[in-house]
Amino acid sequence: MKWPYLALIYVLLILAPLGFSWSLGWPPRSFNQELASGLGMLAFSIILVEFLLSGRFRFISSGLGMDVTMRVHQLMARTALGFALIHPLLYQGTPSGGRRPWDETNQLTISTDFSTLVSGIGAYLFLFILVASAIARKSLDYKYETWRLLHGLGALVIACLLLHHTVYAGRYGGHPLLTYLWLALTSIAVGTLLYVYLVRPLRQRKRQWRVTSVSRLTPKQWELRVVPDGHNGLNFEAGQFAWLNVGHSVFSLHENPFSISSAPAEGPEVSFMIKELGDFTCGLRQIAPQTTAYLDAPHGNLSISHRTEKGIVLIAGGVGIAPMLSIVRQVRLSGTQYELKLIYGNRVEEQIAFRQELSKEETVFVLSEPPEDWSGETGLIDGHLLDRNLSSEQFESWLFVLCGPPAMMDTVEDHLIERGTASHRILSERFDYD
Ligand SMILES: Cc1cc2nc3c(=O)[nH]c(=O)nc-3n(C[C@H](O)[C@H](O)[C@H](O)COP(=O)(O)OP(=O)(O)OC[C@H]3O[C@@H](n4cnc5c(N)ncnc54)[C@H](O)[C@@H]3O)c2cc1C
Repeated sequence: MKWPYLALIYVLLILAPLGFSWSLGWPPRSFNQELASGLGMLAFSIILVEFLLSGRFRFISSGLGMDVTMRVHQLMARTALGFALIHPLLYQGTPSGGRRPWDETNQLTISTDFSTLVSGIGAYLFLFILVASAIARKSLDYKYETWRLLHGLGALVIACLLLHHTVYAGRYGGHPLLTYLWLALTSIAVGTLLYVYLVRPLRQRKRQWRVTSVSRLTPKQWELRVVPDGHNGLNFEAGQFAWLNVGHSVFSLHENPFSISSAPAEGPEVSFMIKELGDFTCGLRQIAPQTTAYLDAPHGNLSISHRTEKGIVLIAGGVGIAPMLSIVRQVRLSGTQYELKLIYGNRVEEQIAFRQELSKEETVFVLSEPPEDWSGETGLIDGHLLDRNLSSEQFESWLFVLCGPPAMMDTVEDHLIERGTASHRILSERFDYD
C-alpha cells in the first residue's frame, strides 16, 4: 500500500477514540483535564497501533520500507511515553473521589478507586521500562530472541492494563461506544501477535524449505541456499528480504532477517549472503544440507520494479552487497534495459565477495585498507568518492539503491541530496535499526 494511504489510516486510527469521545457532546471540563484525557487516549491508541508497526506486516513494510517502518515505531513509542508521562500530572488539583449521582459524566471529579488507578500506574511503569529497554537493547546482556519475547509480552501486558484503566478510570472510556471501540482496537493489537506467532507459522509449516548448501565466500561471509520442499517457492522482487528460520520449530523465535541475494529469474532456489555476527550467523558452518528451513517472505521495498529511470547506481558496503546481487542478477537475467553502476566498499581485499561475477558490471571496488598493488578506489565511500565516479546526469536522473553500514548510508544520503538527487530516487535498506 502506498505511504500516503498508510499515513491517512494511521492518523484515523490514533484519532478515532478522541473523535468518538468528542462526539458524545459531554460538558467540557477545565482545559488541563480535557488535555489530560486527550493525551491519555492518544498514548493508548498509539501504543495499540505500534503492534501493527512491528515490521512483520508486508502491506506496511513494502509501502514504507522496513527502515521507515521501524523509525516510525521507535518515534511513536517515545511520543506515547511522553504523553503518558504528562497525562496524570495534568489532573493535579482536580477533586477526586468516587462517582457522584449528580455528576453522570464525571465532569466534577476523577476516579481514585485503587483498582482502576493501579492498572494505570502499572502500565505507566511497564511502558517506561519497555521503551528504555528498547533504547538500551544493545547494552543489555540479553540474547536478541529473549529481548524480542520480553518486548512482545511487555507490550501485551501494557495493552491489557491500559484497556482496564481507560474503561474503568477514564471519563470517556466507560461509555459503551468507547468501551467497544477500545475493545476492538485492543483485540486487533493482540490479534497481530497471534497472527505473527501462531497463524503465520501454521501456514509456513505447509511450505517448508530444505538447505541445499552452505559455502564460505570470504573469511567471515557465507552463502546459504535453500530450495522449496514440495511447493513452487517464493514470489519476490529482487532486493527484498526474508525472515529465515533454519533448523528450529516453525514456532521458534529463532528467525533472522536476511536479504535474498539470488534473483527471482534464477528459479525456485533462493540464496542468502550472510556475515558472521552472533549466535546464528557464527554457527552457519554447522548447518547440514537437507536441514528444514522456513521463510517468512517477501518483505521490504528495496525494489526496482516499475522504476522508469534509465540507470541505477547501487552503493553497497560489506554484506550490504546481498540485495544488490539480487538486483544485478535480475537485471542481467531478465534482459531489462537498465544501465547499472555498482560502488562496492570493503575494508580489505579478502572481504570482496563475488568479485569475478561483479567485474562483469561497471563496478567500482573500494577498499579502506588496500594492499600496495591495489588499482581500485581507496578510502571510504563518501562525497568525494561519489563525485569522482558519478556524473551530474547520474546524480540528477538515475535511481540510487543503498545498503551498508549506518555511517556510510548517512554520508551518501546527505551527499545525494546535496547533489540534487530527489529523495524518491533514493532507496535504502539498513541491516540495523538502533
Ligand atoms: C532487513 C534486514 C536485512 C538484512 N540482511 C542481511 C543480509 O543479507 N546479510 C547479513 O549478513 N545480514 C543481514 N541482516 C542483519 C542480520 O539480520 C543480523 O546480522 C543477524 O540477524 C544476526 O543474528 P545472530 O543470531 O547471528 O546475531 P545476534 O547476536 O543474535 O544479533 C546481532 C544483532 O543482529 C540483529 N538481529 C538479530 N536477530 C534479529 C532479528 N530476529 N530481527 C531483527 N534483527 C535481528 C540485532 O540488531 C542484534 O543485536 C539484515 C538485517 C535486516 C534488518
